[in-house]
Amino acid sequence: MDCIFCAIINGEIPSSKVWEDEVCYSFLDINPQAKVHALVVPKEHIPSADAICEDNAAVVAHIFAVIPKIAEALGLSGGYRVVTNIGEDGCQSVKHLHFHILGGEKLSENMA
Ligand code: AMP
Repeated sequence: MDCIFCAIINGEIPSSKVWEDEVCYSFLDINPQAKVHALVVPKEHIPSADAICEDNAAVVAHIFAVIPKIAEALGLSGGYRVVTNIGEDGCQSVKHLHFHILGGEKLSENMA
């Protein structure tokens, strides 16, 4: 499968790693949209949040249990935003489930 995030997880493409465990991998976004912008992805290839179901929901629960640890490692003591884009209308460019962690400054009140 030709997936850039699978290649990053496998070490075939370099990344600035923030966190790794048996379930997920986190790295800095190459095109940051806030002072601090990281991504956290499941190691399992799940196409988007629209593909979350009972069979893989534990992976997502794990990621959300880890996000506060990633945020702490990134120094996001003032708060942060977690975003996932889904499909064409959601402007998802990489078809491997990922959560954006944005912060390090006061973010826009606009969500869309
Ligand atoms: P999305 O548009 O929600 O699918 O987000 C995909 C994100 O992946 C974008 O913010 C890109 O900047 C980021 N991205 C793409 N390629 C890389 C890469 N090689 N390393 C780090 N981030 C990347």
